[in-house]
Amino acid sequence: MRIGQGYDIHKLVPQRKFVLGGVEIPFDKGPLGHSDGDVLFHAITDALLGAAGLGDIGGYFPDTDPRWKDASSIHFLKEACLLLYKNGFLIENLDGTVHLERPKLAPYLKKIKENLSEVLRLPADRINIKAKTGEGIGEVGRGEAVVAQVIVLLTDQ
Ligand code: MG
Repeated sequence: MRIGQGYDIHKLVPQRKFVLGGVEIPFDKGPLGHSDGDVLFHAITDALLGAAGLGDIGGYFPDTDPRWKDASSIHFLKEACLLLYKNGFLIENLDGTVHLERPKLAPYLKKIKENLSEVLRLPADRINIKAKTGEGIGEVGRGEAVVAQVIVLLTDQ
């Protein structure tokens, strides 16, 4: 078995689409980033690569590469999954936490899990995504940032 963790943070700014876990959520701000700034997909990509010992998201998709400008982060996740499968790994389960003051994620968690289940080819009961606020403190609490933390477990075939 192999375990991996991923972490990501993006600043929230006006005039950016708010995309999280591949779901576009109506809000007056969105994550600043070279790609679409999907923190959850970025953290999952890093957790998968980390567990497999295959480096990190920046090594494959540098934010200096114009190809990834405003790119959908689902592409990064799909590529990481392909690398895992090519290297003989299977995902056992995934557990993630999104730290975000607003908007409330509860109405979107089901759709996010469905997206993940499809991309990772993993049954939904092996995927868990939790949402927490920043309790009004720190950059999350002040609504300045969105953070994602993810842990995955792989088996080596
Ligand atoms: Mg990122």
